[in-house]
Amino acid sequence: MLYNSTRDSKVSVTSAKAISKGISSEGGLFVPESFPQITLDDINRLSKMDYINRAKYILSLYLTDFTEDEIDYCVNGAYKKGKFECDDIAHLVNITDGCNILELWHGPTCAFKDMALQLLPFLLTVAAKKTCGGKTIVILVATSGDTGKAALEGFKDVPGTKIMVFYPEQGVSQMQKLQMCTQEGENVSVFAIKGNFDDAQTGVKKIFTDKDVAEKLAENNMMFSSANSINWGRLVPQIIYYVSAYCDMINNNQISLGDKINIDVPTGNFGNILAAYYAMKMGLPVNKLICASNANNVLTDFIKTGTYDRNRHFYTTISPSMDILISSNLERLLYDLSGKNSDKVNKWMDSLNKTGKYTVDDDIKEKISKIFAAGFCDDIQTKATIKDMFDKGYLSDTHTAVAIKVYKDYVADKNDNTPTVIASTASPYKFSSSVLEALCGNCDDISEFDKVNKLYETTKMPVPKSLQKLKNKEIRFKISCEKDDMENTVLNELIK
Ligand SMILES: *Cc1c(COP(=O)(O)O)cnc(C)c1O
Repeated sequence: MLYNSTRDSKVSVTSAKAISKGISSEGGLFVPESFPQITLDDINRLSKMDYINRAKYILSLYLTDFTEDEIDYCVNGAYKKGKFECDDIAHLVNITDGCNILELWHGPTCAFKDMALQLLPFLLTVAAKKTCGGKTIVILVATSGDTGKAALEGFKDVPGTKIMVFYPEQGVSQMQKLQMCTQEGENVSVFAIKGNFDDAQTGVKKIFTDKDVAEKLAENNMMFSSANSINWGRLVPQIIYYVSAYCDMINNNQISLGDKINIDVPTGNFGNILAAYYAMKMGLPVNKLICASNANNVLTDFIKTGTYDRNRHFYTTISPSMDILISSNLERLLYDLSGKNSDKVNKWMDSLNKTGKYTVDDDIKEKISKIFAAGFCDDIQTKATIKDMFDKGYLSDTHTAVAIKVYKDYVADKNDNTPTVIASTASPYKFSSSVLEALCGNCDDISEFDKVNKLYETTKMPVPKSLQKLKNKEIRFKISCEKDDMENTVLNELIK
């Protein structure tokens, strides 16, 4: 299995190279040259395995240049007992007839990013040994809140790596900020930037592709890689849990082998839902993928009209990990739907860069509307959904609530009762303030940890241990930088 670049289909590299580089030299994203197929027999076999063995099987189809021992080492390390606060790792909860919530947030940082970011450091260090022996890998991360913490936790004190995280000063929750600024580890650093997530992501992409910076790093025996969902090593672990959820639905007698399901995903950078699309390309029986957005509904409009237009107001919402106007992974979908036409992808991305918008061809628009449904909701509807669901017996965070609301709208509109998996992407405690407000009204007069306690008293849902511990941790990182100063900040930190 080799990997091509979305911006140059002639580029062809091994998975180890794709993972260690993160992004292709000309700025494209790595994609598998074809999709390995899983048959219903394979799915039947997988349904009798635990998560770790399902993961090993799926990974082995994509990472064909990794040995079996290497894959075992990576997966056993990432998902070993105790790292996740539930034994089945990706926990499927049936809430009503045909509707399931896939809780992906039982990992160390309480967001679904752990599913991939616990595995990525293993994949990356094995890949780097194969392809770029001896160099220190520098992980640069732009985060809307959850990736940053999950990456810090995954990479802390991993030999041969350093990690630097940039987050938008005003764009993350109090809990997310605390999680990052108290991060332990000798190889980590964290910076706030005066800008939004798109500024952080654009800044990081620019540094990645800057030849002078790359040279300076090489002189110091370092190289960049990415832990953002542009890295193939972030996406491939996410395919696993959709296949796994399907297996669990068979085991719970909700579906029979071969039945189709819908998958509904609260979406920002389009990584999580793209992984569901890839699972479908592999042969997982999927009917519709439902793309749920918050008030930053650029993807809803794109899926409905075929025009991607980021020239619009940027809203700071109570589901901050979805406050994104440039969804990087959409590029991978376009590459696939255009029949691997990197010229077209270049044209669209160029137009996005210069004018903030592009329109895809009619045949692609057609394909998109066959596979995807889309919807969005605002903060008021998100809070109403949290309250309504809690009254019915399920507590969700703000991001998951967006997906639930969009799912309900979709079912009401289309009358499609296909059994559904809704990806649940964060613990309610990670967004205590907004969740509490939805349940009890505004409580801004009390501290973040009092809110956690009050949410516990109100719901009796256990508080994740890692969040409980934050209260007494020392703040290690206080620096904020201008968005135009990110490159200097990186070089100053690395080359002393
Ligand atoms: C990152 C994140 C999302 C968005 O996922 P993408 O892969 O960027 O689309 C949704 N919810 C939460 C809680 C997240 O952390």
